[in-house]
Amino acid sequence: MQTTIIRNGIYFDGLGNKGIKKDVIIKDNKIEAVVDKAPNIENAKEIDATDKWIMPGLLDIHAHYDAELEVLPALEESVRHGVTTVIIGNCSLSAALGKEEEIVDLFARVENIPAKVLSQWMIGNIKWKNVREYYEHLDTVPVGPNVASFLGHSNLRMHVMGLDRSFTQKNASEDELKKMETIVEEALDAGYLGVSIDMLPFHRWAGVYAPKYTGFSVPSQLAAKSEYKRLANVLRKRNRVLQITPNAIEKTSFMTITRLSQGGFFKKSLKTTIVAALDLKSNEKIYNLLKLLGFIGNKILRADLKFQTLSVPFLNYGDGPVSPLFEEFPSMIKAISADAAGRHAMFTDPTFRKQFVKEWNHKAASVFPKALKEMWIVNSPVSTHIGKNFEQVAKEAGVEPVEHFMNLLAEYDTKIRWKCETSNHRENVRMELLNSEHCFPGFNDSGAHNLNMAFHDGGLHLFKQAMRHPETMPIERAVYRLTKEPADYLGIDAGDISVGKRADLIIIDPTRLESDLTTEPIEDYHPQFEGSYRLIKRSGKVVQHVFINGNEAYTNNGEVKFHEDLGKKKIFGRLLRSNWN
Ligand SMILES: [Zn+2]
Repeated sequence: MQTTIIRNGIYFDGLGNKGIKKDVIIKDNKIEAVVDKAPNIENAKEIDATDKWIMPGLLDIHAHYDAELEVLPALEESVRHGVTTVIIGNCSLSAALGKEEEIVDLFARVENIPAKVLSQWMIGNIKWKNVREYYEHLDTVPVGPNVASFLGHSNLRMHVMGLDRSFTQKNASEDELKKMETIVEEALDAGYLGVSIDMLPFHRWAGVYAPKYTGFSVPSQLAAKSEYKRLANVLRKRNRVLQITPNAIEKTSFMTITRLSQGGFFKKSLKTTIVAALDLKSNEKIYNLLKLLGFIGNKILRADLKFQTLSVPFLNYGDGPVSPLFEEFPSMIKAISADAAGRHAMFTDPTFRKQFVKEWNHKAASVFPKALKEMWIVNSPVSTHIGKNFEQVAKEAGVEPVEHFMNLLAEYDTKIRWKCETSNHRENVRMELLNSEHCFPGFNDSGAHNLNMAFHDGGLHLFKQAMRHPETMPIERAVYRLTKEPADYLGIDAGDISVGKRADLIIIDPTRLESDLTTEPIEDYHPQFEGSYRLIKRSGKVVQHVFINGNEAYTNNGEVKFHEDLGKKKIFGRLLRSNWN
């Protein structure tokens, strides 16, 4: 195999040590040497990394590529931003268990991938019958980045209880609970990281194949606390990880999570990652509460909580009434499930409108700022709308703003596209959260809500902000926080490039961080999405080389180039099993 010599770069090992000028030699998929001056080696490929950063590939600790990796295993939209390991099976959703149609119904609305497209990807292609066989299958997929997975509780619940009971019974029977525990044990034996559960009611069932439950929250959300506890105790014994999506609007949710994670004199605390620490526009004081909860949970109650944190403003796009932000409006659950004609009927019906106004004005904890002046129109059949917010458009029309908003939804439905920054808008607060010992950066949610958001480049944005605020976070700490720190916490072998380690390594040009990164996503029409699109990101020439398993997966020296075998041959990423086996 080829030897590669990277010369004169600033080398960050991923362990938190300061960057120092070094040459790095890669041989046979491993880091062969890190030296002051590498010798000349015959036939070696040479890369000049003068003034560039050499560091371990980044982890995306929260991704939803479970379906996508079956058809587009290269996962190019993460690799191009320097991500060499992705964690899937989050938010109680995974492809490990469940009938094909159930998996489509579970993923379609949350990931916002058309059911037609998902059906083509999944139906007829699921050959695995249990958690162990799913991992054996993942072993054969020619993934670009490395992959590790949680077992999704919604799938587990559907599999054990059957679809109807999983949606209607809060309390599983003792027999069902025992079956769930046995399957979780099997998954941990196979090397899964742990289990993901979802307490957030806004993740909903699409209902293309099982319309009886259209708009229902995914099954994990319904489960009794005692069920979560039984699963958590299996994880605790095996030193694995619980991933939780909390109920953001239910204050007791955090107490429930702390109790699940809490240790004691004879009890280990359970590693628990929580989505997500957000600095909400609708309540700018809430991040202080988050810090307090982290402190009380971790320092006083002996829990082991890590809030996953997004390193950029949380920018969401919506198509008229169809937006994940509207999933918290009871009136809109039906509207999102309906077709255009159905929604037109709703938004012209006085009773529905009255209900919508009531919910719009309802003052309660909410991720959505519910402010029309924060909702900017990016596309509309009426060209004069574009670039204005809904409040401006209403003023120009001389109509009360919420009334006018409903009129526009009635008339243009999904043809009117808008964007809204809901949270993480203050850079100083964001940096405080990203640096907090109770938080983990590296939450990008790649592959989720495909039409609504894109944060695949989140790690790079952390570096940009670390450059601006070295007093808050030095670069070596930012590198550690995106590589070895989460890898160790999750229990996988990744995240450092010491001698002898697998060569998952990237080269970054720090002078490009300010100029080349953007918060705005772009629309991408990939042929596998069958005429639909998804939002993705571009990061210019920030990332110049990405090595995975010693092979150069991506280069950008002015021209973007993915390796021709990426996503085709099994020479790049691999399934990473838990170290705790
Ligand atoms: Zn998620």
